[in-house]
Amino acid sequence: SSAVHQIQAGQVIVDLCSVAKELVENSVDAGATTIEVRFKNQGLDSIEVQDNGAGIAPHNYESVALKHYTSKLSTYDDLSTLQTFGFRGEALSSLCALSKFSVITCTKEQVPRAAKLEFEMSGKLKSTSVVSGQRGTSVIVEDLFRNLPVRRRELERNIKREWGKVISLLNQYACIQTGVKFTVSQQPTKGKRMVLFSTKGNPTTRENIINVFGVKTMNALITMDLKLQLTPTAGPLVKGKARADGSNTEVRVLGYVSRPTPGEGRQTPDRQMFYVNGRPCGLPQFVKVFNEVYRSYNASQLPFIFADIQLDTHLYDVNVSPDKRTILLHDQGQMLDNLRESLIELFETQDV
Ligand code: ADP
Ligand code: MG
Repeated sequence: SSAVHQIQAGQVIVDLCSVAKELVENSVDAGATTIEVRFKNQGLDSIEVQDNGAGIAPHNYESVALKHYTSKLSTYDDLSTLQTFGFRGEALSSLCALSKFSVITCTKEQVPRAAKLEFEMSGKLKSTSVVSGQRGTSVIVEDLFRNLPVRRRELERNIKREWGKVISLLNQYACIQTGVKFTVSQQPTKGKRMVLFSTKGNPTTRENIINVFGVKTMNALITMDLKLQLTPTAGPLVKGKARADGSNTEVRVLGYVSRPTPGEGRQTPDRQMFYVNGRPCGLPQFVKVFNEVYRSYNASQLPFIFADIQLDTHLYDVNVSPDKRTILLHDQGQMLDNLRESLIELFETQDV
């Protein structure tokens, strides 16, 4: 029934962050090298994500917004080796149930004739019309939670905090996506559109960080390349894969962290970005170790952190939460112990 559909949709799309996350990940999955996120009235009026990716082929118009439709997964076995962000086919169908939802899309064969698709709340295709357009897809979400009055009021009341969260999340995506021009802009209800930040399709994350946070921020960072060697026998034997082969138990932590210089306090929890194999995620236990070690040098400040944890896919599980932001690391305890030691070593070798 439509009530059940709404409730389930409300579990996939819980706030502005989930909308931004799902749409940006779809653009990345589509192979986009340009991604533009446009907010109107901080997302309360609309959120639009436009990309220059592969587009949606006409034979998929009917199905893209149906529940559990995905073009990204053919067998259950694919799950462990999956390279795409999406695979559940829940985002577009949920957005149909929770907003005024439309799509403009164009494959390279169709240029310059794009299709504008409108959907019913159930995800059923309502209408198709021809508009002009370039290769790629634009997804427009207007009036989020329009039919869930309590959720809508909550969003409006907490908009300041929600806005801070969604911008941090987009910073996180923009910094890791090398080779992608990533732009975020906002237009107030009355007033003109302003670009909040943009990356330039840089080959390195270093340049992305400079684009997003400025060269001054970058200059206060040190490069980090920590190797955390897990004992080959620790942890569960995942999928019968004995860890006799030492090569798959090396964990690397790559990125940048604040140079541990004493300074005036400026708390920057919105600048603590973690990834697992390039996938943005929240890793509260890792944050804690970084903060604790850093604070033994500078008690009044939190460090800037950009940390990509690179490890064998058998050592973690991303499918534990619907938003896939929670990642289960099988040897987390050991990783954290090693991380603490390596960080202290890194900081000790810096001239303070
Ligand atoms: P999932 O990402 O899990 O497959 P979604 O509901 O997010 O599910 O998207 C459903 C399908 O719509 C995708 O599998 C993809 O085929 C298509 N799609 C969504 N967004 C885009 C996009 N920006 N570009 C191309 N195809 C898209
Ligand atoms: Mg998706």
